[in-house]
Amino acid sequence: MLSYLKHPFFWGPTACSVALLVLLGATCWEYQEATADHQQTVTAFASSTDTYRSFTYEIRIREARLAEEKEAVIRNLTSEQERNNAIQNQIDGLKGSVAVIQKVNATDKELLQKYSKVYFLNENYAPPQLTVISPEFVWGIDKALETHAQVTPFLHALLGAARSQNIDLAVLSAYRSFNTQASLKSAYTVRYGAGANAFSADQGYSEHQLGTTVDFTTRAGGSVLAGFDETAAFTWLREHAHLYGFVLSYPEGNNYYVYEPWHWRFVGVELASKLHAESRDFYDMDQRVLDTYRISLFD
Ligand SMILES: [Zn+2]
Repeated sequence: MLSYLKHPFFWGPTACSVALLVLLGATCWEYQEATADHQQTVTAFASSTDTYRSFTYEIRIREARLAEEKEAVIRNLTSEQERNNAIQNQIDGLKGSVAVIQKVNATDKELLQKYSKVYFLNENYAPPQLTVISPEFVWGIDKALETHAQVTPFLHALLGAARSQNIDLAVLSAYRSFNTQASLKSAYTVRYGAGANAFSADQGYSEHQLGTTVDFTTRAGGSVLAGFDETAAFTWLREHAHLYGFVLSYPEGNNYYVYEPWHWRFVGVELASKLHAESRDFYDMDQRVLDTYRISLFD
């Protein structure tokens, strides 16, 4: 029954088939192995791509954050610089204000003060420094007249200008101390009684005590002051004195004191020029307005 098993035609093809099957099986197995490896590689690659993507994304976020921080720092720096500049400007402004205040404080407030029969200069007041008026401009022999040291140059300029225009003008009286004034007044009082108050200057005396005020005369008129307002010197003073900072304290028809055409007070070029331009008198001005000219008094 199994005799065909012994037949060579049976074993030949069978052996071939078995060999083929074995070969096929081995190939399939290898193929499966390779496929699995490939799949693994693909999976690994995909996962590393994801990692790469998320890493790139993080870097971008970090870059953006850094850029924002950088901008914030620059903004802060700019505003800090602006604040520093503002502070510097304030400091500069303060320095300027301090300089102005120092200049104002350095200028004696009495020098632009209005005096009246009730408001006198303190009897102990004396100018910080006096200088002698050049004798060539003074009326009288051996008379050493003095004015406030900072006013004397302006007075010399005025007198020099008058002389250059052939105006007969000289100084009769200048700085007078409280004591000098007191004895002068008592001499007047003895001679003229109570009427002395009318012209010997309860008021004008304060201005002489400042050292900024002079009484002018002419060489022709000498110590006689009456009629001074009819001289060429007076006309010249009315037109030019403001250029040297002098004003007539008590003009004709004023409401504060007797008319004194010879009595001129230094108030600074700026204020004197303003008063001249506006045809106003020193004593007509508000004291607070006058005070604002202290800053430019000796300019
Ligand atoms: Zn006078």
